[in-house]
Amino acid sequence: MNSCAICEKQLAHKREVIYKNDRWMLVAVESKTALGYLHLETKRHIEHWSDLNEAEQHDFFQIIKVVESALKEVIGSERLYMTSMNELVRHLHFHLIPRLKGSAKHGLPFISDVMGGAAATSLKEVDWDEGLKTHFVHV
Ligand SMILES: [Zn+2]
Repeated sequence: MNSCAICEKQLAHKREVIYKNDRWMLVAVESKTALGYLHLETKRHIEHWSDLNEAEQHDFFQIIKVVESALKEVIGSERLYMTSMNELVRHLHFHLIPRLKGSAKHGLPFISDVMGGAAATSLKEVDWDEGLKTHFVHV
């Protein structure tokens, strides 16, 4: 029996999947603070960077490159922040958080607000996830 929250979510098919292949799943995160917030998760339940096989490593950088350029085009992202802690949920995953042009905060204060869920706005009004999907046709 697997008690991993990410494995369960992948099986449930209830999230907005932007892209997936045999090794990775890229999903939209509902966020009140960060437009374009994504999770990039391994399809396999692995817990450490050192568990990534060569194909997963290769795909990882391809996906990150597409995410960065797509977010820039679709929502005007200026920087793509990425963090991976894997403490609460021990399934290797990455938080991909775009910072928009003109954002009042940068760096760690921005990440802290996003991860802490501060400063609610009406970001859900923007349909960014559908626009992002079109960038993964050739990955
Ligand atoms: Zn898992």
